[in-house]
Amino acid sequence: MSGIYIHIPFCKTHCTYCAFYSELLRDRQGSESFVSALCAEIEDSAFPDNVRTLYIGGGTPSVLSISEFKAITAALESKFPVSGLEEFTVEVNPDDILHWGQDYVEALKSLGVNRISMGVQSFDDGELHLMGRRHNAEQAKSAYNLLLNSHIDNISIDLIFGFREGLDTAVIEAELLNLGRLPQHISCYQLSIEEGSGLDRMQQKGLYAMPADEECERQYYAICSMLKRLGYHHYEISNWALPGFESRHNSAYWNHSPYLGLGPGAHSLIIDEKGNFIRRWNDECLEKYLQLGSMAPGSERQRAWNTLRGEERLTPEQIREERIFLGLRTDKGVDGQRIPEDKWFVSDSIIVDML
Ligand code: SF4
Repeated sequence: MSGIYIHIPFCKTHCTYCAFYSELLRDRQGSESFVSALCAEIEDSAFPDNVRTLYIGGGTPSVLSISEFKAITAALESKFPVSGLEEFTVEVNPDDILHWGQDYVEALKSLGVNRISMGVQSFDDGELHLMGRRHNAEQAKSAYNLLLNSHIDNISIDLIFGFREGLDTAVIEAELLNLGRLPQHISCYQLSIEEGSGLDRMQQKGLYAMPADEECERQYYAICSMLKRLGYHHYEISNWALPGFESRHNSAYWNHSPYLGLGPGAHSLIIDEKGNFIRRWNDECLEKYLQLGSMAPGSERQRAWNTLRGEERLTPEQIREERIFLGLRTDKGVDGQRIPEDKWFVSDSIIVDML
């Protein structure tokens, strides 16, 4: 299983809890220049494996126009063998879906997108306002209906817990059941306050306080019970799916499979010709990315991408540790066959128990 992740580094506004790399999108010229640089990076990239999943995330990919999506998919198709593509996900914001309308969603579908991941985050307008989201609960539900009307039959929604005291899962359950059709997939992450984020500043000024750990734990277990009741398979700490709709792309991360990341801030895990595992990342610098992307095609540009990149060769210990902690996130657990034997490792009683 191998996938490509593309990072779109733009948002229209910044949410108060967010730490993902993104710049404010000021005009269409900004996104057009970025897409042209991204197509250059695609052209200059190599990835030996057959691509099984594509994931366009961010940032907010739905700030891109359909013609920009067309340019990206055309560049991908001309470079990588994508005929065996099993899953093609695009992340969207409800506000963009309402702005662009049904034609936009249908056009994404015609480009091969077969899974949409939408950031709903909460069904409470007060919370959405504090989070700095650019939609309210009603708009998120309208956008969800628009996806249903566009016959998207694999929809994932993101929710956040641990944002405020007293989260009532009965309310969330009722909202989910009122959606017309349950989303096939739900990612529900606990809020964490990232340094330098809006919430961090609000917390320092005494304008916001996170619930206590015990309350977050109560919320998490209440969510687990509620989603189990609704028929969801809890397959990863923060991810639930109706049977058969587990995310293939994200499952490949947790399975420690290789993937190629493109766009500023994107990470890759690549196995080189000698069998080494290489972690590679693009720096979070849009300006430099645009500068490299505007160079004339050729070997000089191809080499120049390295000035934006960092990489490390994973040691056997790192591979072991990553496979253990990634496996422990999932209901499959750690696959002992894929953990090379090691004295230090097998002397740890907790790990031995897991294997
Ligand atoms: S949560 Fe999503 S929309 Fe909000 S700032 Fe982060 S990447 Fe942008």
